[in-house]
Amino acid sequence: MKKKWIIHPFLFAVIPVLHIFSNNAGKVDITVIIMPLAISLFFTIALWSFLTFALKDVKRAGIIVSIFLLLFFSYGHFYHGLGNLSLMGASLGRHRFLLPVWAFITVLSTFIFLKIRRPLNGFNSFLNVTASVVIISSLFNIGVYESAKARNKKDSGGIEFKSAEKENVLPDIYYIILDAYTNPEVLKDMLGYDEKSLINYLNDKGFYIAKDGRTNYTSTCLSLACSLNMRYIHKGENSVELVRSNTVMPLLKSHGYKIVNIPSGYSDTAPIHSVDFEINVSGYHEFTITLLETSLLYPFTQTKIFDYISLHRKRILETFDMIPKVRSRLKGPFFIFAHIVCPHPPYLFGKESALTERSRFETFEDSGNFMLVNNNWSPEFKADYLNQVSFVNKKVRLLVEQILKNSEIPPIIILQADHGSAFEMYKIKSGTVAARQTETSIKERSGILNAYYLPEEGRELLYDSITPVNTFRLVFNTIFNADFELLEDRVYWYDFAEVTEF
Ligand SMILES: [Zn+2]
Repeated sequence: MKKKWIIHPFLFAVIPVLHIFSNNAGKVDITVIIMPLAISLFFTIALWSFLTFALKDVKRAGIIVSIFLLLFFSYGHFYHGLGNLSLMGASLGRHRFLLPVWAFITVLSTFIFLKIRRPLNGFNSFLNVTASVVIISSLFNIGVYESAKARNKKDSGGIEFKSAEKENVLPDIYYIILDAYTNPEVLKDMLGYDEKSLINYLNDKGFYIAKDGRTNYTSTCLSLACSLNMRYIHKGENSVELVRSNTVMPLLKSHGYKIVNIPSGYSDTAPIHSVDFEINVSGYHEFTITLLETSLLYPFTQTKIFDYISLHRKRILETFDMIPKVRSRLKGPFFIFAHIVCPHPPYLFGKESALTERSRFETFEDSGNFMLVNNNWSPEFKADYLNQVSFVNKKVRLLVEQILKNSEIPPIIILQADHGSAFEMYKIKSGTVAARQTETSIKERSGILNAYYLPEEGRELLYDSITPVNTFRLVFNTIFNADFELLEDRVYWYDFAEVTEF
């Protein structure tokens, strides 16, 4: 009898991992995939062995395993794909709909392959060939991106300028993004928050707080792409890629800076190509999250088993702890980039204690689902958000105190939000929540905390309506005597429509 190869179960076990890796190739370290690959292969071999033993038919068992793997790893893709689709008023993109469907398909297909009498050689070959083609294309992608990554590393951003003479006194630069920390004026006028502790503290310390602090773009990645590239972003540009291979970091590197990143857990801000040190904090790697959320484990990622929420909370606390410690661990000037996803939801921190009893489990998505908990809007969110602002205020004061204490050369500290809060933007409209673009929602969403601790000559250049696009133009003009022209401060809504005049 002709011997038939059965390799597809192994291939289908590694394809999902390689596929996500290839989609992020050049950006994720290859060591990240070892554990998921090992786990996936282990379960595949275990299941295949068990079924072979039970059915006494290695080929049939292999086919059932492959079908199961396909269903297992595609669940999340279908879930996301169905999104807001609904059938007769019921949303299809819900676990309570999709899980039973998946269970039914799994049982049905297993049953079919148990019952088919004729030999499965043809189907076996078909699976072998299909899986091989997919895996080859993934490997090809990985190769292409890995070589692009190597090229990117050598790129210095393309901008050269004359530098100051006294490079030995270059200050450390702390670029701290407090996600969704809206403008203090907006906090007071629109959200009724009148706690002045942080603002008074920063003023006392010599910070400049831009009174009309506004972002250039109302979403995280565009906003950061804009500030880190010192220019406006055009529709159609890849903002994630622009953050990853930004202009600011290579430019600082070429002047002797070490680049440090504390990843936020969002794919927007890690990994960044030119980073010298990425500080490890708690939380899942984005790769693992993507793998989990595209698989059949997705419905369970929001349970205690995976514990996203505690890890997210830990990550924020650790980030605040780590930032001031970097100085003692490095020689020479450094630039630290810390994107802290707070006071942005999920709401995990109470006003007084670090931990709130009522941890609002909430989506990690930034813009679209900003205020949604299981698609319900709660009036308590505003209080939760403001409590989280109070928590951030306390942490930032402590942080600034420690940074200043640990710095021999007065540092540069930039405390900036990527965009504001979104209470006006999401209002209940006949039972659902709708994003609204109004004068007040634009004011709230585009308003940001934008505070600078700069040397005297830099302070003089600051002005109340400065936006992030000019942040590093101004910083470089200050520390390198560079001659970057300041750009007009403009604000763009999600659809790239200019809303500066609101
Ligand atoms: Zn954000």
